Amino acid sequence: MQIIPPAIPMDIELECGDCGYVQPFSIPTPVCPKCGQDWMEARYNYERISRLWPDILRQRPFTMWRYRELLPIRNDNYQITMGEGGTALLRANNLGMMLGTPNLFIKDERQNPTNSFKDRQAALVISMMKEAGVTELVVASTGNVAISYSAYSTHAGIKLWTFLPSLVPPEKMREIAIYGSEVIKVTANYDETKKVAQQFAVHKGIMVDKGIRNVGTRESMKTIAYEVAEQLAIQLGPPQPGFPWRAPDWYIQAVSGGMGPIGFWKGFDELYRMGLVDRIPKLALIQADGCAPMVNAFHKNHAEAEIVSNPKTRVITIATGAPGPAYTYLYHIMREQGGIFEAVPDEETFRALHILAKIEGLSIEPAAAVAFAGLFKLLNKGIIKRNEVIIVNCSGHTFPVEKFLLDDDWLKVVPAGPIETSVQPSPEPAPPPSSEDILGALDQLDARVRRIAIIEDNPEAARLLRRILQTHGEFQIVEAHTGKEGLELIRSTVPDVVLLDLMMPDMDGFAVIDALKQDARLKDLPVIVITAKELTAKDKHRLQGQIQILLQKGSFMDEDLLQGITALLGKDEEESL
Ligand SMILES: *Cc1c(COP(=O)(O)O)cnc(C)c1O
Ligand SMILES: [Zn+2]
Repeated sequence: MQIIPPAIPMDIELECGDCGYVQPFSIPTPVCPKCGQDWMEARYNYERISRLWPDILRQRPFTMWRYRELLPIRNDNYQITMGEGGTALLRANNLGMMLGTPNLFIKDERQNPTNSFKDRQAALVISMMKEAGVTELVVASTGNVAISYSAYSTHAGIKLWTFLPSLVPPEKMREIAIYGSEVIKVTANYDETKKVAQQFAVHKGIMVDKGIRNVGTRESMKTIAYEVAEQLAIQLGPPQPGFPWRAPDWYIQAVSGGMGPIGFWKGFDELYRMGLVDRIPKLALIQADGCAPMVNAFHKNHAEAEIVSNPKTRVITIATGAPGPAYTYLYHIMREQGGIFEAVPDEETFRALHILAKIEGLSIEPAAAVAFAGLFKLLNKGIIKRNEVIIVNCSGHTFPVEKFLLDDDWLKVVPAGPIETSVQPSPEPAPPPSSEDILGALDQLDARVRRIAIIEDNPEAARLLRRILQTHGEFQIVEAHTGKEGLELIRSTVPDVVLLDLMMPDMDGFAVIDALKQDARLKDLPVIVITAKELTAKDKHRLQGQIQILLQKGSFMDEDLLQGITALLGKDEEESL
């Protein structure tokens, strides 16, 4: 991997987060000699860096180390890198169409070496450990930090002891073990596990990872902010002359220890000080409602987290019941600058996980899905506006979760040959499967298939509807892009359900409905109207009794549509009995 030396001599100071005392930077970072606190903020020579960066950055590859001048290691010989950072900023077109959010972006942190954004932290913290001469390290984790630290410590030749609460899925524990780390499962929650790890480290005289109190942890997460600001400027253009980079309106993340949002916020605070962006985005931080110490405290306007000693969520990765000073830090930022904490139930998280996979093609882990469930909720509440520029941190996917999500019938088996009935071993090789057998089996799969007509003039919207239906797997879909064509299509194919747009050029949806009502064969066809049009009282009157379901574009989820269709088909079935 390429090492990027700093172009500017490093010039870092440590400022005490408590009393403001400033001392020169050193590794490992000392406690404050004045007040004894150990929360230090790294400060750099922003004025100098902002002058030199534009030219320097042009020549550097897109990894987190391109921002080398704002990262606190002194000697690049100790840099441990495995290609972390520089992840894609994906424009979520499909999801955006479904939600009515044209400026929705996904920062795809699954693309890091161990598939979560913890790799940014591991790269910087392990580099700093290496520089400090550390050879053995203890870490407590809900899974992903341990996986990431294991990979990077192995790379650095550091021995790692990992302490994990017993609810961490065995797949994650095996992933940690394969790197050669010690895996200690503690039959307790995460906060107790941290204490056990601490005691062990003191007893053995081994360095223990300080988590959020570690300067490197927060500094590493800043790089998400820098990358997003550069990527948005390219994808959306700079907001106004004089500001080369661009801030989103919102940053959404599933939160437990809080290092991601604290780092992200600090990154934007620095970019703002350097005159690279015109403002600092608001944070929307989401927790599982069964372990929401930050959300509960924030809604009561308390600056101290409300400790949860018995987390009740399946999303173990973010089940931190006692987030400590991270919450207080975020509380002050968000009271001053806006932003919101929100909680979501696990079932909405798993639903969001499934939506991301089938609508955007992104398979994500539950912790990352929490952020998307939060997005859906905050849009519905009107707290995040649909036209705002929104970044969701797709924080990871480190193990398969499908077993929670799919019913037993997700797999269809087609026999490839005749079923063996004889118990005698046959001397002849079995004849190859005839294509008729296979077609016969496929026909059977097709027998209960219902036909759905999509009449929609926006091809993108039609494509999305088709996708939603196809992932359900049992529909035959016919499609037309004008009202006239649509009417002909309905007449020739007689579908089981019609999905109809209202605003179409040649013949609008109202006219299509009128024509159907005049045709004895088609007058009872169930019609679902999907429209972007704000309906007037007169429109509503015209549709009254003529259609079965009305869905407003940009405010329905795929499941609303599927449930509607299933209900209409079921009703149809009863009537035809
Ligand atoms: C660690 C983690 C989080 C929460 O991160 P914090 O910013 O420390 O609260 C969210 N998602 C995934 C996948 C994680 O690994
Ligand atoms: Zn101090």
